Amino acid sequence: MSNQKENKKSPDASNGMEKIVSLCKRRGFIFPGSEIYGGLANSWDYGPLGVELKNNIKQEWWKRFVHQRTDIVGLDTALVMNTKVWEASGHVATFRDPLTECRKCHSRFRADNLGFVRADNIIWIFPINGEKCPNCGVKINPENFTPPVEFNLMLKTFLGPVDPVKMLSGNLAYQILGNQITKEEFQNIEEKVSQVTHYFRPETAQGMFVDFKNVLETTRKRLPFGIAQIGKAFRNEITPGNFIFRTREFEQMEIEYFIKESDWEKYFDHWLGEMRNWLKDLGVKKWHEEEIPDGERAHYSKRTIDIEYDFPFGKKELYGLAYRTDFDLKNHSEKSGEDLRYTNPESGEKFLPHVIEPTWGVDRSVLVALLEAYSEEEAPTAEEGESEARVVLRFPKWLAPVKVAVLPLSKKENLSNKAKEIYQNLAKDFVCEYDETQSIGKRYRRQDEIGTPFCVTVDFDSLEDNAVTIRDRDTMEQERIAISELNGYLKNKLK
Ligand code: ATP
Repeated sequence: MSNQKENKKSPDASNGMEKIVSLCKRRGFIFPGSEIYGGLANSWDYGPLGVELKNNIKQEWWKRFVHQRTDIVGLDTALVMNTKVWEASGHVATFRDPLTECRKCHSRFRADNLGFVRADNIIWIFPINGEKCPNCGVKINPENFTPPVEFNLMLKTFLGPVDPVKMLSGNLAYQILGNQITKEEFQNIEEKVSQVTHYFRPETAQGMFVDFKNVLETTRKRLPFGIAQIGKAFRNEITPGNFIFRTREFEQMEIEYFIKESDWEKYFDHWLGEMRNWLKDLGVKKWHEEEIPDGERAHYSKRTIDIEYDFPFGKKELYGLAYRTDFDLKNHSEKSGEDLRYTNPESGEKFLPHVIEPTWGVDRSVLVALLEAYSEEEAPTAEEGESEARVVLRFPKWLAPVKVAVLPLSKKENLSNKAKEIYQNLAKDFVCEYDETQSIGKRYRRQDEIGTPFCVTVDFDSLEDNAVTIRDRDTMEQERIAISELNGYLKNKLK
């Protein structure tokens, strides 16, 4: 959990985010969730371009860390697991954030974001530097704010035909009507409620620990080796917000890399290097690596580095890298009774492997990719000496949701037939878009705005010389290429 102040924004910052949010809505990257019913706060849907962008991130990650390595295998585990998993992992007891409420405006906040500090790991002390309510501006003191209460972040659900909420309210009504329930009846209700109460996973990691033995036995991997997973995670965040930065439903890409204890520093450095390479390839020019000090790390971690990024709303966590020791395998061994030790094939020695865990948030990767790619500039128009503003998403080419746009110069049938033929041929190799509406200048701008690296213009000469004009998004230079060489040319350029 980070302890940064997410409620403060500068006007410039919100402006930067507003542009991204509005572009995402306008062009079909990301829509507000459930919009036709008035929305659902902080829920977002990925539109036609957003899903391509997000898939590119996930596929590149999977290719790089699972397919191109012999020491990592993939997994896809259930979203709802046996509750004992979360008891063993420590999430039921410790996955909590401190919640405080402003008594004046009734806004709720994470206390650590407002300057509350925890003393002796037990009680929360009110801030002493004159901090104010980010919503209504009253001073934060015991008169205006409630003392922080620890709030478990796991999202609950109930499996099976018993609905505990109805059961409890039914019983309440029964008592209001003057009836008494016995202690046994109450315990019976409690028992039923706990039987059906389950949690959506708050991280993908535990699935990889719980299936460790299955993976080991079926793949016969030797240390060091890793298990990778991409999937949804759910957290009942107190203060979701900042677009897709903090939501209650999000996606993670995680690796649990199993090692001998003595090797942990070597592999911690290895994964830090891999995370740096990933950031560069995503187009991130600058980030911060924050060493998390003793006392602020998660309960399982002996060393953590947070990769932070200067978002328009402040410096915040983008990814994390943690040395989880043998905490998880040890706890799952003890609590499940299964022997999760690894046997050294040479010496026969049995031991619990230690774990390095690099974690990437998918949605935060999407947000960073959009922020890094967004640019506004003046570009020349077709008119001599004229220029106009152009918005360009300068995605690295592998990331662009659409790789090639096919644009016939006119809607005339002979030209559009030719262009459609070219489109069909290109679509076998690339994600393409076909667009024949409005002026060619406007169509170029539309493609720039969604980050399409290449536009292929089919003109009347194409009918004669079997060649097309290719326009480069970044240089805006145009080149004439034979249609027969088009796929090969673009493959080379998009490498
Ligand atoms: P934060 O301090 O921002 O709450 P965290 O330290 O709790 O994050 P981790 O538990 O390390 O996050 O989760 C791993 C990654 O999952 C984060 O680095 C981030 O990219 C992503 N992530 C975590 N919580 C959310 C969320 N609520 N919405 C979107 N992405 C999230």
